Amino acid sequence: MFNINENYLKLPGSYLFSTIGKKVREFSEANPDNKIIRLGIGDVTLPLVPAVIEALHGAVDEMGKQSTFKGYAPDLGYEFLRKAIADHDFKTRGVSIALDEIFISDGAKSDSGNIQEIFDVNCKIAVCDPVYPVYVDSNVMAGRTGEYIAETGRWSNVIYMPCTKENHFAPELPKEQPDLIYLCFPNNPTGSTITKAELQKWVDYANKVGAVIIYDAAYEAYISEDNVPHTIYECEGAKTCAIEIRSFSKNAGFTGTRLGFTVIPKELKCGDVMLNSLWARRHGTKFNGAPYITQVAGTAVYTEEGRKQTKEQIAYYMNNARVIREGLLSAGYSVSGGVNAPYIWMATPDKMTSWEFFDHLLNKVNVVGTPGSGFGPSGEGYFRLTAFGTYENTLEAIERIKKL
Ligand SMILES: *Cc1c(COP(=O)(O)O)cnc(C)c1O
Repeated sequence: MFNINENYLKLPGSYLFSTIGKKVREFSEANPDNKIIRLGIGDVTLPLVPAVIEALHGAVDEMGKQSTFKGYAPDLGYEFLRKAIADHDFKTRGVSIALDEIFISDGAKSDSGNIQEIFDVNCKIAVCDPVYPVYVDSNVMAGRTGEYIAETGRWSNVIYMPCTKENHFAPELPKEQPDLIYLCFPNNPTGSTITKAELQKWVDYANKVGAVIIYDAAYEAYISEDNVPHTIYECEGAKTCAIEIRSFSKNAGFTGTRLGFTVIPKELKCGDVMLNSLWARRHGTKFNGAPYITQVAGTAVYTEEGRKQTKEQIAYYMNNARVIREGLLSAGYSVSGGVNAPYIWMATPDKMTSWEFFDHLLNKVNVVGTPGSGFGPSGEGYFRLTAFGTYENTLEAIERIKKL
């Protein structure tokens, strides 16, 4: 007689986006003539760039010929992609990452969910609040948390690091000592970043207390300010305490194509055991990373045309972010983010809750955003707007909000 993993039953389920969907559906059924503008999407909207499409076509043709057909990909991923990553993402930042420290995968979501499997079930995790939900959910399923406490919106046995206006949406070092620390900068949902000097403090802390930082750099390509680190390995000592997770989703539009990677330096050890070899073992036997076709497409992102074309897309989104940010600021709203990230985090006006403001925007000006409380209790009273819409719609949405 089998038993289930009861930890799965602890998850209350993610009602955030289904509730948003339901409310928007009901509104548009009742008001079929109103034009709804969505600034709540956490997904890219521009098509794959020409350099990537060309590479995809080429790789598809190779798969159709006996002489160039490819079967299972190598465990860590194709060397041509890992070399492009090492050269362009790390060497250009003065960081030396060996090819066997890079593990190609089907995305940062899988990696950030799966990475906890190489750690003991008794490890205590620390997360930012508000936060991308995958870090906590995967640890809940693994049995690393206690129960969900509805009144506080938090799990027991998890260390929460509030990111609020007072600390400029950057977490402070926790008072209680964690074993695993999840950090994501530039951040989803707040759009905040931390400087290299601030990140160095986390690296020093992790090395001192023997914790591992799991650093999600999915929005690295959106960084515009010089003092914001592009990789945690720019910090001294990071190789002995940090794992970095990256994605092609937000920098090159691969949300539906699926490609990402994780870096685990060989210096990162628990006693004599390299975490790199733990992950390699798991990776090689359980997954095959990403398809050849996708890895060829990802490599095209690093070519001269690929870099130029993807940069233009990011510039397009960040121009939307500027429109949102400047528009809201001029209308007197309290706004952060949108400078190094495609997310704008605004305080709701007139002490409205996040959901009250959601309804207000939808009903009054037909604009959809994401209630901040959906990302954690410290997100209450905040609202997330995203820069992934079209320029015309973004402009119109902000003009409407200004007239509120
Ligand atoms: C979108 C996003 C990712 C990307 O995940 P993929 O699985 O690569 O699409 C990773 N982390 C955060 C915080 C994100 O918002």
